[in-house]
Amino acid sequence: MAARNHDDDRSLRDAIRQLCRDFPDAYWRNLDRREEYPKDFVDALGSAGYLAALIPETYGGSGLGIAEAGIILEEINRSGGNSGACHAQMYVMGTLLRHASEEQKRRYLPPIARNELRLQAFAITEPNSGSETTRIETRAVRRGDRYIVNGQKIFISRVKQSDLLLLLARTTPYEEMQDKTQGLSVFLLDLRGIKGKLQIQPLETMMNHHTNALYFEDVEIPAENRIGEEGLGFRYILDGWNAERILIASEAIGDGYWFIDRAAAYAKERVVFGKPIGANQGVQFPIAKAYAHVAGADLMRMEAARKFDAGEKCGAEANMAKLLASEASWEAANACMDTHGGYGLARDYDVERKFRETRLYTIAPVSNSLILAYIGHHVLGLPRSY
Ligand SMILES: Cc1cc2nc3c(=O)[nH]c(=O)nc-3n(C[C@H](O)[C@H](O)[C@H](O)COP(=O)(O)OP(=O)(O)OC[C@H]3O[C@@H](n4cnc5c(N)ncnc54)[C@H](O)[C@@H]3O)c2cc1C
Repeated sequence: MAARNHDDDRSLRDAIRQLCRDFPDAYWRNLDRREEYPKDFVDALGSAGYLAALIPETYGGSGLGIAEAGIILEEINRSGGNSGACHAQMYVMGTLLRHASEEQKRRYLPPIARNELRLQAFAITEPNSGSETTRIETRAVRRGDRYIVNGQKIFISRVKQSDLLLLLARTTPYEEMQDKTQGLSVFLLDLRGIKGKLQIQPLETMMNHHTNALYFEDVEIPAENRIGEEGLGFRYILDGWNAERILIASEAIGDGYWFIDRAAAYAKERVVFGKPIGANQGVQFPIAKAYAHVAGADLMRMEAARKFDAGEKCGAEANMAKLLASEASWEAANACMDTHGGYGLARDYDVERKFRETRLYTIAPVSNSLILAYIGHHVLGLPRSY
């Protein structure tokens, strides 16, 4: 594989920064207050082709790697925005590229690349299974040329802002399986013109995230919309987890740099007791320390992305990048909040909004406990903890 071209990275970063300039702090702040979806921003990003970054050129996308996709999400967050509004298309792309049939790819990828079709939602989490994905209870039962889906999902984001949803459901009951990771299947559910009943109940969360509880009642999915083989869905989802961890790390790194930039600027400007507050070690050192941690996480993320794009094993690096980046962004958030004193809590400064937003990354899309369990077991060979 050729060495990374940092000039290309620079021009990609500049292009995203340019696009984000049209969506300043006030845009995100007002949406946050009204709990509205950033439709104009996502439209602009989609029309410019950035949401199709991972779609190969043969299907009309830009055929970029996970490193570039991460840079796009990082720069959105670093600009003060929140890429949580639109990241799903990148998160789930690997499942489609690796496991969908050629016919499915030709049907869906070109319109997604042209920004005519949105794949912004994926539904895995359930109230009774949580992080133990193999325990999901939503059933898809084959009836002739279709599957009938019944069950319940929780925290499923952007369903109302998407045309397609990637669904994980049980096709064989848990109790009947020797290997509990089998008997799960992945489907592409077309949300336009649902047959059966799909109730979408919005959930209020501490940030503007458009997440929902879903209730499936005899929802029909044509068998041709099953991705890959029946029963192997968990493996297909697992395959996508390294990409997801690298992308989420990138978002957290973008937030981390945003907090550092804001904290450093404010610490230079704000004068109390006759000198800039940043001259005090009590203010300066937490910012410096958080910066070092964000920069370290950034290197781990780039190493994970390099290996991923080279087709090398990257489970250890992808998991460590997610852990380090989510912790570093939260540390930077606290340093930024403390540096701003009371103003950190004032909405007009945007620190409290980003503080709420970045808190998510240690918990979702996967909790850091599960990341530590991965490192302990798979990297260090310690006994399995769950
Ligand atoms: C805003 C938001 C958006 C989301 N969007 C989506 C989405 O679009 N699609 C989707 O499918 N899901 C989505 N999720 C769900 C998210 O992926 C889950 O919340 C996450 O995986 C954790 O699952 P849980 O909340 O059920 O926690 P639980 O699994 O109940 O865990 C609770 C706590 O126990 C800890 N824990 C559990 N087991 C162990 C163990 N063995 N060892 C140590 N600690 C353990 C966890 O680390 C956590 O701290 C979203 C969540 C949020 C909050």
